[in-house]
Amino acid sequence: MSDIIHLLPDNVANQIAAGEVIQRPASCLKELVENSLDAGAKHIRVIVRDAGRTLLQVVDDGKGMSSTDARMAFERHATSKIRQSSDLFQLRTMGFRGEALASICAVAHVDMQTRREEDEIGTRVEIAGSEVISQEMVQCPVGTNIRVKNLFYNVPARRKFLKTDQTELRNLIAEYQRIVLVNPQVQFTFVSNDEIISELPTCTQKQRIEAVFGHSSKPYTGQLVDIATETELVRISGFIGKPESAGKNGQQYMFVNGRYMRHPYFHKALMTAYSGMLLPDHSPSYFLYFEIDPEAIDVNIHPTKTEIKFADEQAIFQILLAASKEALGKFNVTPSLDFTTESHLDIPNQIPNIATISAPRIQLDPQYNPFRTQVSHRAEKGWEKLYEIPQRAELQVEEASFDVSLITENTPLIQWDNHYICALTSIGLLLVHQHRAHVSVLYKVLLEQLASQQATAQPLLFPEVVELTNSDLTTLEQLLPELQSIGFGLEQFSPSAYSICSVPALLGQKNASEAILQVIHSVQDTEQSAKQQWHEMIALSLAEQMAIPQGKLLTDIEMRDLVERWLHTYTSRHLPNGQTIVTLLTHEEIQKRF
Ligand code: ADP
Ligand code: MG
Repeated sequence: MSDIIHLLPDNVANQIAAGEVIQRPASCLKELVENSLDAGAKHIRVIVRDAGRTLLQVVDDGKGMSSTDARMAFERHATSKIRQSSDLFQLRTMGFRGEALASICAVAHVDMQTRREEDEIGTRVEIAGSEVISQEMVQCPVGTNIRVKNLFYNVPARRKFLKTDQTELRNLIAEYQRIVLVNPQVQFTFVSNDEIISELPTCTQKQRIEAVFGHSSKPYTGQLVDIATETELVRISGFIGKPESAGKNGQQYMFVNGRYMRHPYFHKALMTAYSGMLLPDHSPSYFLYFEIDPEAIDVNIHPTKTEIKFADEQAIFQILLAASKEALGKFNVTPSLDFTTESHLDIPNQIPNIATISAPRIQLDPQYNPFRTQVSHRAEKGWEKLYEIPQRAELQVEEASFDVSLITENTPLIQWDNHYICALTSIGLLLVHQHRAHVSVLYKVLLEQLASQQATAQPLLFPEVVELTNSDLTTLEQLLPELQSIGFGLEQFSPSAYSICSVPALLGQKNASEAILQVIHSVQDTEQSAKQQWHEMIALSLAEQMAIPQGKLLTDIEMRDLVERWLHTYTSRHLPNGQTIVTLLTHEEIQKRF
């Protein structure tokens, strides 16, 4: 019997490796720009066509390569950045695995020109599917200019897996932002389909954040406070959002030694510092830059290097927590939260130990609050709860459904805590979350309007102008037909702004720009690209904004009207995002308690 094990040819091995490193145009952009940074570039230009599908080009003015290195660079495990395994713990470069270029050239047509300062003439290498097609000498500027064409031309499954151009462009921009935010000392340009969509001069860290997220009309960094701490173990600097500026989609970035990272545990430290200061479902923006001895972290856990292991995670957790509390306290940002507005806050037992925080006042109406003494139960709800996502499986176990006959005109209704409607029904005590019940009603109306394209638009007396970041602009353009069909009148006002001349009548007096931005961000948060799923996201996001606020005092007629309308459209005890609308205490459950 002949042997059956053999070594894979390089092009096959490279293609397999590419599966991990190069998943989409955005991962290709990350690898190429990181190489330019490692080469000491001062100006990096990214040029894409068709969201990187047909062309992704990175031009830098870094140190370039010799003609031998230009060829070697495409070999697997070819790197100039480490020599031995111990170097892995002394990393000062973004790359070290030596597999990015090998992976890219296995799944695309690559054309690279490069020259070092000391060489008179440069080198051009052309490679496709890991095969060198040509190598020649060329006249070219110092630095490297690499063109990646027809990505995944030989991997149809990967090509099909790519999302629409709009989504891939959004991914490219997101990746670009992660890099530019931590490299303000480098000038960047981003060109998409011959249009410059970002031009960033060298500047400070804060100016870079402003340049990426700010609008001319509203300084973005005004919403941030500085954070800085230095210990033997780690240096942390950056900016964290004032609690009142927190929204549903905070910009959250953490970097370590110049590298973007995800770190749920450190995220938790920060959220602990904010506990009690945020509205439910709101999260703050933050930009945190960690500097640490490379020996104390392990970057080599995952090929994309965004998961990073820290040797002293618990100590850093404490340092970050203390620094964040100090930052929030020092700038006296906490009292500026208005606890007396209609919005309801969860007040935890432990108000953070900062002398500057004044005790929050909660507005309670004694007439409508027969269970007042139980208010402290709410306090047990820690910050973890805010991040709890109900399991889908749990949600599917629906008990008895409800119908309109459940509430008659004699059913007593009581509002509790300006938050819930308690109905004493024949099947037990029904507790309805007033805001969510209204969201559910509006959600269904909006879905129908989106499907039938029959919404009532209300013209604005003074059109509003909404300024958008690049990625928001891309999403908005994608959503235009839907937004128009639901009553938003939108016209391009400038390259980065739209004017709003009408809004859905249901939106009432709500801020139109804010409404549009929230829709954009909620769609961006999901990776859905199917139209129906967009409809659902748009309807839910708008319904949440249109619904009566949490904490609003309701009259008996209003309560009755809301509960009846909700029962008329009843399909589930939960909103599509999993939030519970209603809970029922049956007679048996009540009896058990006695
Ligand atoms: P790694 O970055 O992990 O070393 P890559 O496959 O990304 O692996 O690159 C291989 C090598 O090619 C790098 O180590 C570097 O020496 C060289 N190289 C790649 N891109 C550039 C560039 N833009 N400028 C100079 N040298 C580069
Ligand atoms: Mg690299």
